[in-house]
Amino acid sequence: MSLEEIKSRIAKAERAAGRAPGSVTLIAVSKVQPLDRIEAVLEQGHRVFGENRVQEAQGKWPALMERYEGVDLHLIGPLQTNKARAAVELFSTIHSVDRPKLARTLARLAQERGACPGLFIQVNTGEEPQKAGVPPDEADDFVAECRAMDLPVRGLMCIPPVDEEPSLHFALLAKIAARNGLNELSMGMSADFEKAIALGATHVRVGSAIFGERDYG
Ligand SMILES: *Cc1c(COP(=O)(O)O)cnc(C)c1O
Repeated sequence: MSLEEIKSRIAKAERAAGRAPGSVTLIAVSKVQPLDRIEAVLEQGHRVFGENRVQEAQGKWPALMERYEGVDLHLIGPLQTNKARAAVELFSTIHSVDRPKLARTLARLAQERGACPGLFIQVNTGEEPQKAGVPPDEADDFVAECRAMDLPVRGLMCIPPVDEEPSLHFALLAKIAARNGLNELSMGMSADFEKAIALGATHVRVGSAIFGERDYG
């Protein structure tokens, strides 16, 4: 599938949901993808990208950012506190804030730098033990805790369990966001971004549908 096709499917899903055109940001998830595929998408004018590992992003994006203006990089994977400084220097937005220790580290870096990336709090809507994110019933408290540290919390993020209907998880995330006065939602991937848009996604994270399958070999 092409970038153009994904963009037109997003536009169609926005219309179907009665959402304003352009209200959904497409994050092109470039993790593990070869440089030529990333450059092809940059050449088409796309500028918003997602990576899930700080080190991998550090290895490829600084050089690309010198060649292409206006790149907007989002961290969508788990963040270790010892990588937080590198992350706030490279990414405009972090989608994976999920524990007090990380929040405190980000607050300290924000103080020191006088700036902080936009933050999403990751909610483990499926309560899967292997997955990052705060449990749904602790989300309200954690949002309040982050706000008390003056962190710029913009919204919530989730990754539904692979074997469950994603719409249930998107609806739960939207409900938690609404009751906390948050209006941005990072949800929806290649297989389900239209469903996510129907339920209020403002940021969809689409990788393989744009770039092709990832080759981990
Ligand atoms: C890899 C990844 C995606 C993109 O997945 P695709 O199925 O390739 O679209 C989205 N979100 C997160 C958090 C990811 O790690």
